[in-house]
Amino acid sequence: MPEEKEITVQNYLDYINNKKLMGSKCKKCGTFDVPPRKLCIKCNSTDMEWVEMSGKGKIAAFSCIGVGTSFMVNKGYSMKKPYCFSVIELNEGPMISGQLVGVDETKPDDIKINTPVQVTFLETELQGGEIRVDLGFEPV
Ligand SMILES: [Zn+2]
Repeated sequence: MPEEKEITVQNYLDYINNKKLMGSKCKKCGTFDVPPRKLCIKCNSTDMEWVEMSGKGKIAAFSCIGVGTSFMVNKGYSMKKPYCFSVIELNEGPMISGQLVGVDETKPDDIKINTPVQVTFLETELQGGEIRVDLGFEPV
């Protein structure tokens, strides 16, 4: 049996780097958390396990940003080429945030709340050649 990784945010980020969206599931009451937690928010149980999320959900909120972080500016985003940041409600229940891709960022009125989306992993090559992986979501 593979060794169970400890439930930490660092391991969660390592999973994302390997293009896996993992969360924790409470063995007692079945509540999911993303990022994972050692302690269930619902029943305080510490009997948690890693589970891979379906990556499917729907848009709960979003905003299109023209003046972004330096990381996003370096990726070429600007007032003329805004990007959208979204909060997604996963089918399993947890809310997570990530960049919304595959939409027309210049027409935010066309982006609808509750649109079904699927997780995607966005790779950025950093200085020095290291690859950074970020969560993204795109309409399905
Ligand atoms: Zn629980």
